[in-house]
Amino acid sequence: MNRPPLHQAGVVFDESKILAVAPANTLRQQHPDATLIHAGAAIILPGLINAHTHLELSDCTRLCPPPDSFVQWLKGVISRTTQDPANLAPSVQHAISTATAQCLRFGVTTVADISRQCHLTRPLLRQSPLRVVSYGEVQAMAQRRDLLEPRLATAIDPTHASDRLRVALSPHAPYSIEATGYRRCLQLAKDHHLPLATHLAETPDEATFLANHSGPFRDLWDFLHAWDDRVPTFTAGPIRFAQSLGLLDHPTLLAHVNYCDDDELAILANTPATVVYCPRTHAYFKHPLHRFRQMLARGINVAVGTDSCASSPDLNLVDDLRLLHHIAPDIDPQSLWQLATSHAARAIAAPNLGVITPNNAADFVLFNTTTSDPLREILEQPQLLPTSVWIAGRQLTAE
Ligand SMILES: [Zn+2]
Repeated sequence: MNRPPLHQAGVVFDESKILAVAPANTLRQQHPDATLIHAGAAIILPGLINAHTHLELSDCTRLCPPPDSFVQWLKGVISRTTQDPANLAPSVQHAISTATAQCLRFGVTTVADISRQCHLTRPLLRQSPLRVVSYGEVQAMAQRRDLLEPRLATAIDPTHASDRLRVALSPHAPYSIEATGYRRCLQLAKDHHLPLATHLAETPDEATFLANHSGPFRDLWDFLHAWDDRVPTFTAGPIRFAQSLGLLDHPTLLAHVNYCDDDELAILANTPATVVYCPRTHAYFKHPLHRFRQMLARGINVAVGTDSCASSPDLNLVDDLRLLHHIAPDIDPQSLWQLATSHAARAIAAPNLGVITPNNAADFVLFNTTTSDPLREILEQPQLLPTSVWIAGRQLTAE
């Protein structure tokens, strides 16, 4: 996706990697023994990468109209997902099965998945054909501070890692894990070479809570009956909070960053961090216009994600790109597709994904297209779905 589409072209690949990309007639001469698959009038794109979601919530249906506030919504999700432990495993299993089918249907071959129940989701996702960066989620604040170490141990447990499932770590958000916990996560990520993700600057209430423990997030803690006054404060907002912890000196994936002034933009601009914008979820909560254009202009790596089905209608990442195309019709379609391919690959530190080039993984998604501008055509056809999806050189079908 870092170059315009080639016409009359083909790809030679095996299960381990892409071997060649060139005009089709040249490839036929160079690889006469290769099995020929005619794609017809189609564009072959890199498999899409959903850079932020929570697959274990894929059985949730978002409430319409949305609750009055983000914290109201969060309370609803907590109530819906706190259940009898005996029901947890089967319900996670159903959600992961739903999620896997949706990803394949919508052309998503790799998922940056935040998982609170990673001891349950990883064995399931390891059996799925998807590539997964599984960020074990850690929350540890106030009366739940002592849960830090056991939760970290679960989050970084390598038992279910495989060639397609990478174990990663996610300190949840500045309103659910303290600075000590964040620092511990960052150190573990460095020591064990684990990708790191957090939610940041999702609502303006985060700054209020950090500064003086007031506002809707404090209400949430009171709702949970788990507050104590030993939580430290920080007065300069969530982005400087992340900076002070060292998170911005690391390739940390920052989900949302919906609230960011010019000075904060300048702070983010000179860092290896990635911002993941979730367009349909962002619209659901009626946040003001996301500053992704300014971020891109400042050289910040921006990727796209769906977030969970508790705030997005589904896991159709192309629909998020379609919304972006609607919001920003002047941005060329190729730049938008990069947010779901090469930029997203950088976000999850997977340099062998997101671009169709020799030695990269043979992950593809095909769409039937008929015009000379296929990238635009897909964005302007609301119902268009992929005709086939390939991961590691194998064609897959959504069950
Ligand atoms: Zn999220």
